[in-house]
Amino acid sequence: MKIPNGHQIIEEFEKWSPKYLAMEGDPIGLHVGTLNKKIERVLVTLDVNEEVVDEAIAKGAGLIIAHHPPIFRPLKNLQTDFPQGRLMEKLIKSDIAVYAAHTNLDVAVGGVNDLLAAALGLQNTKVLVPTYEAELVKIAVFVPETHEEAVREALAKAGAGAIGEYESCSYTLSGTGRFRPTNGANPYIGEAGKMEVTAESKVEVVVRKNEKDRVIKAMISAHPYEEVAYDVFTLENKEIAMGLGRVGTLNTPMTLAEFAEWTKQQLDVPALRVVGAPDTVIKKVAVLGGDGNKYIQQAKRSGADVYVTGDLYFHVAQDAQDIGLNVVDPGHHVEKVMIKGVMEHMSKQQPTWQCEFLPSETNTEPFRFM
Ligand SMILES: [Zn+2]
Repeated sequence: MKIPNGHQIIEEFEKWSPKYLAMEGDPIGLHVGTLNKKIERVLVTLDVNEEVVDEAIAKGAGLIIAHHPPIFRPLKNLQTDFPQGRLMEKLIKSDIAVYAAHTNLDVAVGGVNDLLAAALGLQNTKVLVPTYEAELVKIAVFVPETHEEAVREALAKAGAGAIGEYESCSYTLSGTGRFRPTNGANPYIGEAGKMEVTAESKVEVVVRKNEKDRVIKAMISAHPYEEVAYDVFTLENKEIAMGLGRVGTLNTPMTLAEFAEWTKQQLDVPALRVVGAPDTVIKKVAVLGGDGNKYIQQAKRSGADVYVTGDLYFHVAQDAQDIGLNVVDPGHHVEKVMIKGVMEHMSKQQPTWQCEFLPSETNTEPFRFM
């Protein structure tokens, strides 16, 4: 068991929720402190407020992973008589780093929106608002059969072969490799000047172009040869679009009133707001975590019978009524599903790390339902 440093933790995290998935201008990434230190405990939270920082101190966390960026607008000063200045002072004095994964975690496969869709029991989910379409390359590597498995594993671990809801996808062909090492070579198989014939496999994987360099590096380090033979092909086909929100179907249709009850239960909220007639039958559901006011038209066009989103404005609710779109607003705080999601994902990725991912137990919901 090894204690990871902050860079290793974030490198692993960004394989899942890369920065390039974030909306333009979203201030994601490291907000406070340094990743250049060993981290034994990470606190996962929706928001960072003073109570959360106190919790991090009490639990001995060296890093906080938060969904909402604590410095959302540029700071004009750091006066410690004011709440934000005090928060920053406390973090720095306690040597606690804060890393924010906001819209990139909303878009990521298995991120906030997938977690919300799963909590609502949605099936066959698709992206509601496409925001990112990855360019793809294909990497084909030639490897002796003895190392085929190790190279396939290294490729998958670096993120190669992710296609939609599937991971570790690859294709392997058996063949014969021929090469003659020259005098300057230090071959793994064979000797200088002699033609070598060896059983090799060709392993092919699809990789996002953005992740190509990392994948090639991981592949080479798992490969036994001095000179690794591999090809990189540009592909015409694009990855299935990624984006905000999801739309999917319920296993069993229910009325809007029943669906509202179901949402309360599944997303753990005491109350919610509903637009629409309570007896409407709901089968198809669109969900978008956080503030989804901008996307009511997309929700309508997706054919959803109801749109679940937070922070609904009065006039947007009227617009939804006008276009015949039912809405359920369980609030913004339901994004807290990310806490469990991040913990489970990170603990699964690196079971050999001596690093605990702890859920924040501070309730950061500002509203009280009375
Ligand atoms: Zn949010």
